[in-house]
Amino acid sequence: MPGNPITPTIPLNEDGVHHGFLRLPYSRDDSAWGSVMIPITVIKNGIGPCALLTGGNHGDEYEGPVALMELAVSLKPEDIEGRVIILPAMNYPAFRAGTRTSPIDRGNMNRSFPGSPNGTVTEKIADYIQTVLLPEASIVLDFHSGGKTLDFIPFASAHVLENKEQQAACVAAVEAFNAPYSMIMLEIDNVGMYDTSVEDQGKTFVTTELGGGGTSTARSNAIAKKGVRNVLKHAGIMKGELEIAPSIMLDMPDDDCFVFSQDDGMIEAVKDLGDEVEKGDIVARVWPADRTGRMPVDYRARRSGIVVSRHFPGQVKAGDCMAVVAVKV
Ligand SMILES: [Zn+2]
Repeated sequence: MPGNPITPTIPLNEDGVHHGFLRLPYSRDDSAWGSVMIPITVIKNGIGPCALLTGGNHGDEYEGPVALMELAVSLKPEDIEGRVIILPAMNYPAFRAGTRTSPIDRGNMNRSFPGSPNGTVTEKIADYIQTVLLPEASIVLDFHSGGKTLDFIPFASAHVLENKEQQAACVAAVEAFNAPYSMIMLEIDNVGMYDTSVEDQGKTFVTTELGGGGTSTARSNAIAKKGVRNVLKHAGIMKGELEIAPSIMLDMPDDDCFVFSQDDGMIEAVKDLGDEVEKGDIVARVWPADRTGRMPVDYRARRSGIVVSRHFPGQVKAGDCMAVVAVKV
């Protein structure tokens, strides 16, 4: 079997700070022998655990890239014991295009795992992470937000796992991240996800949804910067005390959390992010965009809880996720 074509321009396991690239050969019209250059920083000091920190899994989500770019220029070897691998833009072509999926192959990184060494560009990146970077790590933090089409209350989350010992380690790391909300999530469509690959390799895994709309805010970036440092301290890699504030525990137990549109049209929000709803409450209406004199279609919460996610653009299509309601624990 041919190996993965990606080569790092820096050593991945040497003391000090190394900024460089994962170089993926990609021959194309504007660069015959060109490459995709994926930024990476590795910071190491002696013997200790290894954390893999990733952002830009989707290219239009920014808290991860902001916090990880900042960490890469500020974390010093003497601040840590062990190793920190920082990949601020996993799906680098998507990140540069500001899109969820790659403009090269339309690859959704979080549906491309475990990847393939001789697949598409996105699959090659996934395979490299799967076979080279992930096995090095004991703890993995992957940043997400809603991208251009969703907006979230800020939470870190862990999944319901068969291995309860591993799940407890993930929940403890989520609590250490200490976003304003902490979520335990039953994943309904986990095939091809990075999350699943990380968990299948037995790692402690934290993922987040910190905002959305295709941008980031001062507040959401501050949550990301504090969270990543807290996770490194929790893992015993970074020195110092955790910075802990109150966090509300949430649960997304099943499919009833989701409200999907069956109509095309214009959204009228009736509930906002963080609002409490009772089962049957209207969360949003969809107005026909093309005429007056017609009533809107009401979309109702299928369970009681709080609104944790909403469709971000003002217009919706049938099949779009309109809202997500999670349960307070
Ligand atoms: Zn995402």
